[in-house]
Formats: sequence, structure tokens, C-alpha cells
Amino acid sequence: RNLSGNQIREDFLRFFEGKGHRRVHSSSLVPANDPTLLFTNAGMNQFKDVFLGAETRAYSRATTSQKCVRAGGKHNDLENVGFTRRHHTFFEMLGNFSFGDYFKKDAIAYAWELLTSPDWFGIDKDKLYVTIFEGDAKVPRDNEAEAFWIAAGVPKERIFGMGAKDNFWQMGDTGPCGPCSEIYYDLGLVASENGEDVPFPQDEQRYMEIWNLVFMQFDRSTDGTLTPLPKPSIDTGMGLERVSAVLQGKLSNYESDLFTPLIAAAARLTGFEGGELASERVSELALSDEKGAASLRIIADHARCSTFLISDGVLPANEGRGYVLRKIMRRAIRHGRLLGQEQPFLYKMVEAVRDEMRAAYPELKESAERVAKVVLAEEQQFARVMARGSIELNVALYNVMSRAVSQAYREKNSLYRQAYLKYYMSLDEIEAPTFERVLDDDWKQEQEHPDFELTAAMYAPIANYMQLAQLDGKKAFSLYETYGLPKDFISDASRDARIDFDEDGFEAAKEEEQQRARASWKGGSQKTAAPVYRELAQTDFLGYTALKVEGAKV
Ligand code: ATP
Ligand code: MG
Ligand code: MG
Ligand code: MG
Repeated sequence: RNLSGNQIREDFLRFFEGKGHRRVHSSSLVPANDPTLLFTNAGMNQFKDVFLGAETRAYSRATTSQKCVRAGGKHNDLENVGFTRRHHTFFEMLGNFSFGDYFKKDAIAYAWELLTSPDWFGIDKDKLYVTIFEGDAKVPRDNEAEAFWIAAGVPKERIFGMGAKDNFWQMGDTGPCGPCSEIYYDLGLVASENGEDVPFPQDEQRYMEIWNLVFMQFDRSTDGTLTPLPKPSIDTGMGLERVSAVLQGKLSNYESDLFTPLIAAAARLTGFEGGELASERVSELALSDEKGAASLRIIADHARCSTFLISDGVLPANEGRGYVLRKIMRRAIRHGRLLGQEQPFLYKMVEAVRDEMRAAYPELKESAERVAKVVLAEEQQFARVMARGSIELNVALYNVMSRAVSQAYREKNSLYRQAYLKYYMSLDEIEAPTFERVLDDDWKQEQEHPDFELTAAMYAPIANYMQLAQLDGKKAFSLYETYGLPKDFISDASRDARIDFDEDGFEAAKEEEQQRARASWKGGSQKTAAPVYRELAQTDFLGYTALKVEGAKV
């Protein structure tokens, strides 16, 4: 059934209300009383104490649509955003919870009914796969869950045993834990990563995880022993954006109606392709790899995230939560610049986010104006920092590429020569991803050209040269130090240019500088610091060390 994102959210909550669940409003993105958690990242966060038995509620079943942010901290999807079709920094997690009330059997039956019943989501059963915990030394295979899935109507051959990484959940090193079952949707061969028809679960892009059902079954003690909980509980989470893509017949979350209006707004506000795009073009950009498309998606995503974080009270800062927010905003701003927008624009995205989301999150009606002011102030401050620094960064990246290509040229292969020349022809563009595109274009053209033999074997070495290209850590640090360019900003821009960022060298240079600074501090030379250093005191981000990005994927 083709339902709008807003209808899907509502239907989910209504379905579980019909099964005796209390509809509870999303909690804030800033977790109450939990300093261990950077941002709310799952529906169960607000019920943590209820699961632990430290708090009781007037109900034993609840359903929510929870605002979640997975950027920084334990779950960090920031680097995925714009590049995978299913990850956002901010997303909504639809959940149903049982606090010692029903358990596996009902949780499985409910999930299957909602997804497949023609009265509800009506998803074709032949497109769904289910996983169960395959067992390990401590916990046996979850045969129970398998039996309930089969009873619910899932053929045995569509149920797959998986390891602890994906199918065993724990709240922390001790406390409630248990196996889980995940439900995946087959988007079909058209969605495959490389056009190959491989069986589940080999293709992450084609087989998309939509729903995770956690069976809280054990209590883990400090020595690691697992004791069955007297009243096992249920915690589930389904990404609204993912299920919307599925029900709307799209291959990517960004093609769903939760995102297309924001991508259109991003195009309008950055002047992308003239600004006013036809809806078919917006859908195309939501999926495609072409130039600028990822930037539009990143802006759409980060605008949602920034709006909700600020609305919930986070402010840009140099450490902690505020640092992550600042990083996200600055990343969006940088992508606006990649699209040619040098003026503040992100603050106008706030309005677009509010218009899409205010029905479900009425708090936005009150906060949007304040949020926009905060975003605008950040855009203005960032513009000052960037004015000088970004030019220098581009020059540095350009020099790195230039060296890599020169090296290729010295090999005296005619293709390298051609690439080299082409590269210099594109000089005035001085824009990081240019080189790779030039090569790609060559590759395509030459393939069509009958007498030029360009083989993949010849192309590969160039790619290799590019892989060897590295932005020297000392150089990067000098940009950071002299212009206050954020480290993330430098590493992000390098990544876009397919140039390796010398992280270790950067940290070493920083450490060296800090030691020098300490030494000179003893000499009382603080007042002689150059103006740029004083400026740096305001732009330096302690957050680099406070919050190291984990598991960054390139
Ligand atoms: P994935 O393996 O795709 O990263 P996950 O296993 O990390 O997902 P869970 O922690 O199980 O996700 O969260 C429950 C559900 O929330 C997922 O099944 C998915 O539908 C949704 N979800 C998780 N992370 C994101 C994200 N970054 N953006 C959008 N939806 C998400
Ligand atoms: Mg994940
Ligand atoms: Mg997963
Ligand atoms: Mg999961």
C-alpha cells in the first residue's frame, strides 16, 4: 500500500494502540538523567529504568515514534549519510514495548500482522526475510523465535541464524540482554550493490533491515553469568524512513516523501540547477551518484538533525553534544558551498523541516524561529573562519593531486599524459573531485573510440596513484592552526577528493605544538601570540579529542 510517511507513523501507533499499548510521545533527543548517552539513539532509551525495574508506569505496553540521532557516540552513522540509502543522522524509530507483559510469541505475531496484513502495511511476504540468534557458547540458538515465526506464517527457508554482532542485544556490560530477530526487505535485483543476483543476506543494499525485535530475556551479572529474567520484556525498533521507502516502492529512504520535499528545498536554497526542480528530477537526485546529489541528501539529512537537536535545547559548542551539532551544521554548510552557495541558506531549511514534521512534533511550531536564528548565527561565524582557510585547503589538496598525476605522467603512458593535460585544463575549477571525474569521462569516451585501447588494466594504476596521494599531517595541522579550519572539515574535504588524510601525522604535529605551547607558557610569552592564535582560541574544537568518530567508513 502506498502510504505517506505521516500516515505510516500514525498507522503504526494506531495498530499497537489497538493491541493495548499506550501511545507515548517521543522523549527529547537529549537523554534525561543519562550522561553516558550522547543523544537518544533508540526508542527504548526513555524506558530504560522501566526495563531495569527502577521505575514503574501506569501501563505495561507502550508504543512510540522516537526521535533518534546516531552521530557521535557508540552508534555513529554520520559518515554513512549521503552515501548509503538507508542511514540518517536523525531518524524516527517506531517501537512497541512490553514491560514484563507479553513476550516473543506476541511480539512476533504483531510484527508480522502489521507488515503483511492487507488491512495494514500489506507487504508481500515473499519479499521479507527474518533472522534469529544462531547461538553461542553461552546462549543456545533461539529455536523458540524460529518456531513462532513459522507459526506466524514465515517459511522456514526464509529464516536465517545470525551471530551475536547483529542478533544479540545488551543494554550495557551488565543488565538486561537477549537475542533479537530482525526483519529484512528484499528491494530486488535493481537495488543490488553491483548488479549481481546474490542470495540473502549477502547484499546489504538490496536486503534492507527494517525492523529489530529485541527479546529481553536475561540479566547479565558482573561475572558474565546470564540469569533468566523473571519477567522478560520486549523492545522493538523500526526505522520510519526505511519502511516508508518500502511502502512507497522506492529504493532509497531519500526517495520517500519524508525526504523529497527537503531535497527540493535544498536545491532551491542552494540554487542547484537553477533552483526550481521538477519532482521527477528531485526523485532522480534522491538516488543518483551524479555530481551534487549526495550533497543535496546530506543537506536534507543534516537540516533535520540540526533542527531537532536545537529544538531540544542543544546549542553549537566546542565540546560534547554541542560539538557534534556544530560538526553536522558545518558539514551541511560545506556541502552547500560545494553546490555553489556561499551565503547562509541552512537556516531557511529549518522552515522546510518544520512544515514537514510539525504534525507529528508540534514542539517545532514553537521552536522553529529560535532554531533558525541559531543556525544563521553559526553560518555567519563559519563563513568568517572559512573565508581564508578554505582557499588554502583547496590549494593544498590541489597540490597533492597534482603531484600524484605528475608521478603518473612520468611513467610516460599516453593515457597518463592525457589525464595530466586534461587535469591542467580543469585547473581553474580547483575543485576536489574534479580529477576523478575527468578520468571517468576519459574512460567513457575512450571506450567509444575505436582506435584507442584503454583497458581497465591501464586505468587501475591511475586510481592507485590517487590512492597513494596523501595530505601530509603537518600541512593539515598548519591549516588547522593558522586558519582555525576544523580537523573534520579538512579530513572530510580530503575524503571527497579521494585523498588520504594523514591522521597520525596531524595528531603528532598537534602534540608537538602543544608541548611547545606549554614550554613557552612557562616563559610567559602568551601575550606575544599572533592574532590568529587568539582567534583560534575561539575556533579550536576540543571536541576532536573528546569525541573521536568511531568506525568511520569511507
Ligand atoms: P543498520 O544495520 O542498517 O545500521 P542497525 O542494526 O544499526 O541498522 P538498530 O539498532 O537495530 O539498527 O535500530 C532499529 C532500526 O532503526 C533499524 O532496523 C532501522 O530500521 C532503523 N535505523 C537504525 N539506524 C538508522 C539510521 N542511521 N538511519 C535510519 N534508520 C535507522
Ligand atoms: Mg547501524
Ligand atoms: Mg543491523
Ligand atoms: Mg539492527
